[in-house]
Amino acid sequence: MEINRIATADTVFFWEGCSNHQLRFQKCDECGHVRWPASIICPKCHSMKTSYIVSEGEGEIYSFVIYHAVFNSNFKNKVPYVVAVVRLKEGPHLLTNIVDCDFAKLRCGRKVKVVWRKIGEVTVPCFQ
Ligand SMILES: [Zn+2]
Repeated sequence: MEINRIATADTVFFWEGCSNHQLRFQKCDECGHVRWPASIICPKCHSMKTSYIVSEGEGEIYSFVIYHAVFNSNFKNKVPYVVAVVRLKEGPHLLTNIVDCDFAKLRCGRKVKVVWRKIGEVTVPCFQ
């Protein structure tokens, strides 16, 4: 299974969530900080006690760029495409793609919502 090839012990909860169309982020059980990328220690309080939340999948475009060149063979039929950093309502910033959009309407601060796409054999969160 593809998830076993890309997931680590720290990120298996995230990839299992993606397979079930759930956007999951670690949450510190001590201070409540919601974080991404996953890590064994909370960057705020250094606790190793962690669980995860399921994000509502809503946020806003923090930054974006339109790729006109293929940097990954899984995207060879998708150029041009949008690579963006989305700031989720729960706090984490996620490097992702904005899909099915009018490039002329892209703006930082624009509200977006998660949609799920299969890239290669892996289901990943994208945004519209
Ligand atoms: Zn913490």
